[in-house]
Amino acid sequence: MFPFTLEKPLSTEDAIAAAASGARFIAGGTTLVDLMREEVERPERLIDINSLPFGGIRIEGDDLVIGALARMAEVAADPNVQRLQPLIAESLIEGASPQLRNMASMGGNLLQRVRCPYFRMLDAGCNKRAPGSGCAAIDGLNSGHAILGTSDYCVATHPSDVAVALVALDATMRVRGPQGERSFPVEELFRLPGDTPHLEHTLLPGELIVEIRVPGGPHSRHARYLKVRDRASYEFALVSAAVALLVADGVIRQVRLAVGGVGTRPWRLRDCEAALVGKRPERRAFEEAAQLAIQGARPLHHNQFKVELLPRTVVRALELAGEVA
Ligand SMILES: Cc1cc2nc3c(=O)[nH]c(=O)nc-3n(C[C@H](O)[C@H](O)[C@H](O)COP(=O)(O)OP(=O)(O)OC[C@H]3O[C@@H](n4cnc5c(N)ncnc54)[C@H](O)[C@@H]3O)c2cc1C
Ligand code: SF4
Repeated sequence: MFPFTLEKPLSTEDAIAAAASGARFIAGGTTLVDLMREEVERPERLIDINSLPFGGIRIEGDDLVIGALARMAEVAADPNVQRLQPLIAESLIEGASPQLRNMASMGGNLLQRVRCPYFRMLDAGCNKRAPGSGCAAIDGLNSGHAILGTSDYCVATHPSDVAVALVALDATMRVRGPQGERSFPVEELFRLPGDTPHLEHTLLPGELIVEIRVPGGPHSRHARYLKVRDRASYEFALVSAAVALLVADGVIRQVRLAVGGVGTRPWRLRDCEAALVGKRPERRAFEEAAQLAIQGARPLHHNQFKVELLPRTVVRALELAGEVA
């Protein structure tokens, strides 16, 4: 592997200053080290952020607040997370393997790179890895790729499971950078590829994710994450759906819905949500709403099956959430 330095910052300010001048944060290292071994990423300086005070999980009023350095396994096993936000716990358990979840941090999960195989093949065209080099996936093996939010420059899906749940639940994130702190919806962290797929997120140079805040609500406890994948052992989603549902007096009062494995970023389904509110939680209403999920879908040669699998997954996830509503 190429030479690099690993630094332990004495303070958050030191870490941010180092990142602002080109160093990279490293938390669990489960994505970054992998990519460095394959020389897809070649950072010269790594800043180990694990000693910074951004771990832990707490409750503030109705909100669940998760530190960016909390581990996936820790968050999934937390009794408050399981009780108040079961969607978060379930989406984490469905992601990666136990060993990876023990190491992998929440902040790193949100900023993991794509799993498109061509991204890791240094001799393949990939606009995300090497801007202007083309996209080998568009005419290549693309069964795992996106049908929503794609462009002529990149068709890779966003890989994170918990990001789908966080987007469904209107979570926000707090970041700290050279200009101070700011908060914004997790949904706004992710960019569409457009003609600049190498720009994946909206963080400014040096910005560090500090924590994630998930607002509570009566819908939160009646929620399910359904992940369809090629094998039961660790595998990324072909299609996944995160649903939170509040039913009162036999009618859907609130619903939150987002899907993964099909979009170039976690994909919120607001039209489906609007179509469901006020309806009885019945299969026919679920099926009608789920058809709206594929509006604007642009399937590729090998992933046409997702156009059918997506609404079916949404319907099943709504049924499962309905059982706990
Ligand atoms: C075999 C395998 C299977 C997997 N399966 C799944 C799956 O099914 N579902 C799923 O969701 N994930 C899956 N993953 C991905 C895994 O969840 C991520 O690798 C992990 O969450 C990344 O966290 P980390 O702390 O190790 O990140 P790191 O590798 O340390 O960092 C990743 C990126 O985030 C940046 N970063 C880290 N923390 C911060 C911060 N606080 N602020 C700003 N930048 C930061 C780093 O600079 C780097 O660019 C899988 C990974 C592997 C290797
Ligand atoms: S889909 Fe995106 S990540 Fe994959 S080869 Fe094309 S540009 Fe690269």
